Amino acid sequence: MVDAKAAKSRAKPAAAQSMPRGGGMPPHAHCRICQCPVELKADPRVCKDSECVAELERRETSERRMRTWMLIFFGLFAFTFIGPILLRAAG
Ligand SMILES: [Zn+2]
Repeated sequence: MVDAKAAKSRAKPAAAQSMPRGGGMPPHAHCRICQCPVELKADPRVCKDSECVAELERRETSERRMRTWMLIFFGLFAFTFIGPILLRAAG
């Protein structure tokens, strides 16, 4: 019991030491467009390729537009339900 515990505590630091060198790739993220590895802290998460930066811009613009339209539709949808109730309550 004691031996196993000692072996574990002895093995742990050695494994932690060998990880960064022997583990291959360091922690990293992937470009959202071409999936090539980028820095973990990269923000926005794209590589430095101008095509990827432009593509991300395009995607975010269309995403924002889509969200705006969804909000408008949701607003209208909600109003068709809430509107009559409010009118009835007022009248
Ligand atoms: Zn890329």
